[in-house]
Formats: sequence, structure tokens, C-alpha cells
Amino acid sequence: MTEVEKKQPELERLFTNAITGKRLGHAYLFEGARGTGKRALAEWIAQAVFCENGETGKPCGQCRNCRRLNEGNQLDLISVEPDGQSIKVDQIRQLKAEFSKSAVEGSKKVYIIEQAEKMTISAANSLLTFLEEPGIDTYLFLLTTVKENILPTIRSRCQIIHFQPLKPKVMAEAFREAGISEQNIGVLSALTNDYEEAKRLEEDEWFQEIKGKVWTWFNQMVNRNPLAFITVQTDLMPVLKERAQVTMCLDLLLFHYRDMLYISFGHEQAAVHQHLIKAYHALQSESRYLTQQIENILDGKKAIQANVQAQGILESLVIKNQTIK
Ligand SMILES: [Zn+2]
Repeated sequence: MTEVEKKQPELERLFTNAITGKRLGHAYLFEGARGTGKRALAEWIAQAVFCENGETGKPCGQCRNCRRLNEGNQLDLISVEPDGQSIKVDQIRQLKAEFSKSAVEGSKKVYIIEQAEKMTISAANSLLTFLEEPGIDTYLFLLTTVKENILPTIRSRCQIIHFQPLKPKVMAEAFREAGISEQNIGVLSALTNDYEEAKRLEEDEWFQEIKGKVWTWFNQMVNRNPLAFITVQTDLMPVLKERAQVTMCLDLLLFHYRDMLYISFGHEQAAVHQHLIKAYHALQSESRYLTQQIENILDGKKAIQANVQAQGILESLVIKNQTIK
């Protein structure tokens, strides 16, 4: 199975039909979270376009062109990514030089622009002229995580394709293949769609440390241990330097409560931490308490986004925890 078939089977069907029906558009905007297979689909379409046996609308994977693309040797596939913080006008000018060359040669060309939201205004404006008059055999794919960050003039000239988040089972399998350890697959796939990011997190010492600390903190809270309040200052705050880290800490806490709630409903297979199920059972708690704490944590996450100071948020979580009946 290809990455595209696994991650986005509906989109694969959509584009197979577009290719066999000769309805493939010249400019697409692919929008979706990291790891949802945007790049893989754009390359897959490129392969189908170049394939010598392309009548089925799918790449054969065997012919010379398919093999060249798999080896990263397909010269008619041109991709642009940010040079530092942005995609600069010179990069788009180069791309346009290729467009006009291919128009002269009459050859098929596929262009992929990664993180298209990082185009500078002048780069985007330079691209507009292409979008107004694309060549017959040129296909352009703009990839982005948030389409609202793309200039409306560009957006309106592209067909927008939305990439759904991956199904949990698909993601777990992709993570397993990427070498993520069984113990971390559940929690990491709850945190991200992107297996490269998951791999980074798994190897990250900070992540290992916070995971352990949150587990201790969670146990204190469920047991209404007064130490939970002190833990915020002595254990958690010293390792929570950035807002994203505080959010991660709250997410990890949330997963424990959610797992406990699933278990209280006899829904064990839905738990993120499968290896902790025994420990959860030993903790014992009422579902009313669990839902209330989940709500409090979600409020805490909102407060972080509103720039409320982290220590206050974590401490008030403990105080609320002590007062839930
Ligand atoms: Zn082929």
C-alpha cells in the first residue's frame, strides 16, 4: 500500500477519476495538518501524470518515469520550499522561468510549493501571473496547514482540497512503522499527526521528563493528596518555560483523565495509555469527578491561550480538584 492509499484513500479516488476523465486542474491548494499526506499526494499525482502506463489514472510504479520519481530523479518535478523564514520572489521567478521553458518544449511539468503561506507578498504576486494563465501541461500544488494564511487572490485561483486528519488506526500503524515504541504510540498519536514530530518527541528528554512528572501529579490529584499543590511549584514550573510546554503538560494530564473516563464506561480499548490500564483501575474514581476535572483542564488550556500566567492556572486546577465532591 502506498502512503497515499493508506492516509487519504478518498482523495486518491478523487484524483484517479480526475486524471482518467482528463479533468485534472492546473492549480490546487492542499490544506491539512502536518503528516496528513499532502506532499505524498502531490508526488503521487505527479507520478500518475508522468507515468508511461498512466491510462488507469494511477502510477504503475514500474516504468522508467515512475522509477525516476521514486529515486528523486524526476527533473520535471520541481519543488520549492522556504529559504529560511520565507519563500522569496527570486525563488518564484526561477519557477516561472521553468514554466515558460516547458511551454516551449511542450513537456509536462509539476510544481510543488511547500509551506505556501510563507511566500512573501511579492513572491505571491509573482505567482499570480502563472495562475492567471497556466500552461496546458503544467500542474501546480500549493501546500499549507492553514489556507487562511494564503493571499485571497491566490486562493481564489486554486481548487482547494482539504485533508482530513488521519484515522487513529492508520496513524498508530504509521507510527509503528516509523519505529515509535509501543508504549508511546497512543500518547504521541493523540498529540500529533506527524510521525517525524512524534519521533522527535519520543527522543526528547524534556518530553520523557514531563510525562513522568505529569503522571505523578495526576496520581496526587486523583488521591486528593495536598502535595499536588506544591508539585506545581517544585516539579512542574521549573521545566515549563514556554507556553507550548504548558499546553503539552495540560494535554498529558487531560489524556490520563480521559483514559480513566473511558475505563469507567468499560471502553478500555479507547484509552491512550494502554499500558497504564491496571494502574488506572487501582486509582478508582467517579465519572462525575473525571468529567468535572476534564472541563477544568480545558478551561486551563483556554486560559493559556489568553496569556494567563502558567503557575496560576496549574495551581487553580489543584484547588478546583480539591473542591469537587
Ligand atoms: Zn509508471
